[in-house]
Amino acid sequence: MQRSKICLCLTCPTIKEDLEVVEKYRNWIDMVELRVDFLTKDERLHIRKFPNLAKIPTILTIRRKTDGGVFIEGEASRTTLFARGLAYADQDIRKNFAFIDLEEDFQVPSLQDAAFAFGTKVIRSFHDMKGPVYNLGDRLASMCITGYEIPKIACLPQNLSDVTRMFKETENIDFEHIVCGMGDFGLSTRILACKMNSFLTYVSPTETIENMATIGHIDPITINEVYNFKAIDKSTTLYGITGYPLKATSSPAIHNGGYRKFGINAVYIPIKSETVEEAVTFAEQLDMKGLSVTVPHKEGILRELDSISTEVGEIGACNTILKTPKGWVGYNTDARGLKQALLEFLGCTKLGRRKVAIIGAGGAAKAAAYVIHELRGRCCIFNRTVSKARDLADRYNFKYASLGIESQEILEEYSDIIIQTTSIGMGSSGPYNEKDDPLSFYTFRGEEFVYDIIYYPEKTPMLERAESVGCNVCNGYSMLKYQAYEQFSLFTGVKYE
Ligand code: NAP
Repeated sequence: MQRSKICLCLTCPTIKEDLEVVEKYRNWIDMVELRVDFLTKDERLHIRKFPNLAKIPTILTIRRKTDGGVFIEGEASRTTLFARGLAYADQDIRKNFAFIDLEEDFQVPSLQDAAFAFGTKVIRSFHDMKGPVYNLGDRLASMCITGYEIPKIACLPQNLSDVTRMFKETENIDFEHIVCGMGDFGLSTRILACKMNSFLTYVSPTETIENMATIGHIDPITINEVYNFKAIDKSTTLYGITGYPLKATSSPAIHNGGYRKFGINAVYIPIKSETVEEAVTFAEQLDMKGLSVTVPHKEGILRELDSISTEVGEIGACNTILKTPKGWVGYNTDARGLKQALLEFLGCTKLGRRKVAIIGAGGAAKAAAYVIHELRGRCCIFNRTVSKARDLADRYNFKYASLGIESQEILEEYSDIIIQTTSIGMGSSGPYNEKDDPLSFYTFRGEEFVYDIIYYPEKTPMLERAESVGCNVCNGYSMLKYQAYEQFSLFTGVKYE
C-alpha cells in the first residue's frame, strides 16, 4: 500500500484566500479539500475553476451542518452546487475535481455518473459527530455500492479504548478507504493514518484551524516537521507519551527530532488516556516499544509493569516504560534529568551546605527528593497536603511543612535553593494572580536559586517575581530535555547528544 496522503482542508470565505493557503503549504501536502460550505454565497458560483487554479488534486465537498459542516441551504441547492462543480469537464483531468465527497445518504445517480464519466473519484462518507462507529471493516465495505467509491468514516471516539478498537478493526482492510477519529482522543488516528491503511489524513492550516477545533485537526507543518508523517510506514517503530489531560507537551518534538537526526524509522505521538490500563492496551495493539508516562499516571502505571528499575522502586513513581521480551519494564528518568538540569543551573557538582526547599510532594517532588538525597543535601518539603510532605520527608530524614504563610520562617531557612514541583502556574498568562504562585506568601531576598519544573509558560508568575528581585531562576525545560534524552537512549539504544 502507498503511504497515506496529507489532505489540507480549505475553509476560507473566498477562493482567493484558499488559493493563498494552498501556495503557502504546497510543500507539506499532497492534495486539498475545497470546503464549499465555508465559501460565501457569491464565491460558490466560481468553484468550477478551482482545480485548474490550485494545480493540486482537489476534493469537492459541501458539508451539511449535521455532518460537521456549515451548509444549511438544503439538499436541492447542494445538488445544484455539486453539478456546477462537475460541469464542463475538461479532457485534461487535472483541471477537474479529482474527488467528490458525497455522504452515504446523499444518493444522486446523475451526479455520481457524471463524476465517474470524467475521472472524478467518489468519496462516499459517513460522519458520526457524537460517538464511535463499530465494526469499521464491515461498515466501510457496505458503503462501496458500485465498487468504485472510496468509503470514508469519521467518528468521535469517547475514550482511548474506542481508538484502540479503530486501529484493530482497520489493520487488515485491503481496499481503499478513509478513517479518522475526531476530537480529543483522535489525534493518533490522524498521525498514524498509515497504520489504519487510510488513504489520507486531513489537516488544517493554522489560519483557519479554529473552524476544525472540535474535529481536532493539526496543521500541515506540525504533522510533517514534528511527526515526520511522510516517513511513517508499516515498519515504523512507535513510541509515545501518555497522560491526562495531556494538553501541551514538548516531548514529541524532542524525540522525533532525535529519530530524524539519527536516521531511525520511528515516531513518537501523544496518547491521551484517562486510565493507565487503556494506555497499555493501546500500546499493545499498536506494538509500541516504549512510552513516556506523565501526570496523573506516574504511580498508577506501576500496577501494569512486569518489572521496575531500582530508581522506580526507591522513588515510587515511573515516567518511562519499555517493552522487552519479558514484558513492560518501568524506569524513572525524571530524577536523572532533574539532577543534570539542577547541577547545570547551580554551576556545581555538589550542594555543599546549602539548604533546599522542595515545593510539592507529588510524583515530581519524589524524584526531586531522591536527587537531593543523592546529592546529600539538607532539605525541607512543603506541601498543601501535609501528610504527603511528611511521608516523603520521612523516607530521607528531611524536614516537612505545610505550604502557606505559617511556614514562612522555615522556608526562609531552607531557601538557598528552591525547587518548585507543584502544577501551580502551569499554563498561566495575563497579569499576576496569587493563585498561580505557590509561594505568594513568601518574599524573595534576591539570593535564592529558584528552579521551577514547569516550563510553560516560559516563566511562571513565581519565577517572574523571583527574577525581578535578583534571584537566579530557571524553568523546567532543561529537566524535560535531559529526562527525554535518557528516555531516548532507553528506547533506541542511541545516545541523544
Ligand atoms: P502530581 O503527582 O499530581 O503532584 C501535584 C503536586 O502539586 C502535589 O504536591 C499537589 O499538592 C500540588 N498541587 C496541585 N494543585 C495545587 C494547588 N491548587 N495548591 C497547592 N498545591 C497544589 O503531579 P507531578 O507529576 O508531581 O507534576 C507536577 C508538575 O510538574 C506538572 O505541572 C508537570 O507537568 C510538571 N513536571 C515537569 C517535568 C519536567 O520535565 N520539567 C517533569 C515532571 C513533571 P497536594 O499533594 O496537596 O495535592
